[in-house]
Amino acid sequence: MRDKWNGENRVSNGEIIRQHLRARTRLLVCFLTLPLYVIAVWTLLGNGRDVSLIMWVYIALYAIFALDMTRRRCPSCGEQFFVRNILLNLLSKRCVHCGEEGGK
Ligand SMILES: [Zn+2]
Repeated sequence: MRDKWNGENRVSNGEIIRQHLRARTRLLVCFLTLPLYVIAVWTLLGNGRDVSLIMWVYIALYAIFALDMTRRRCPSCGEQFFVRNILLNLLSKRCVHCGEEGGK
């Protein structure tokens, strides 16, 4: 969605924050599928399969999603949207620095 009054290339704060929240959802889904992953690895190990590849893929996926979240910046204050000190705040739906939540 593009705001006509903001010009062609400018994306509204609300849209930027929606993108941030989608990145957060990806990482949360990754966390929620952890039990399935453990069962899959367990089953493969039981069958005598090599699980090193699936383990590395999973770890890489986590790292990519987490890094993607840490580099996202708040459109209002310019600080890292989800990161305060060194903690990544997965539960926050608003900027951990200024409280910007967008969409309004
Ligand atoms: Zn902010």
